Amino acid sequence: MQKTNPSLFFVEGEAPGAPGLKGSRCLGCGQTVLLQVAACPRCGQRELDTVCIGQRATLGESAEVFHSADGFEAPYFIGMVATEQGPCTFAPIAAPPGTALRVGMPLRFCLLPRPDGRVGFAYAPAENGA
Ligand SMILES: [Zn+2]
Repeated sequence: MQKTNPSLFFVEGEAPGAPGLKGSRCLGCGQTVLLQVAACPRCGQRELDTVCIGQRATLGESAEVFHSADGFEAPYFIGMVATEQGPCTFAPIAAPPGTALRVGMPLRFCLLPRPDGRVGFAYAPAENGA
């Protein structure tokens, strides 16, 4: 399976808890950050576990985008996503056009096959936290 951005996320089987975002957890202070990093940004510890995070998240500010980009058909949504582990990132939001997205809405990570055969990811509204 070819991913749009292999450094950003895991698909099933690549890590415990996958699919989800790729992150690092510091073995020194316990801080969790996005991506695979060489050293903890908080304490400088160089021993970190690579972990799968962001299976569940909460929506922050979001916007509807009206031009297509990188395989996404317009209109689509992009939003600030706060993962349950803490780190925040911008991500596409997989919701039908015209959906009323709101701050604090629960989201879940989902894989999104692209027309070019690669697989990307997005966050979809998770009603009732399901
Ligand atoms: Zn640390």
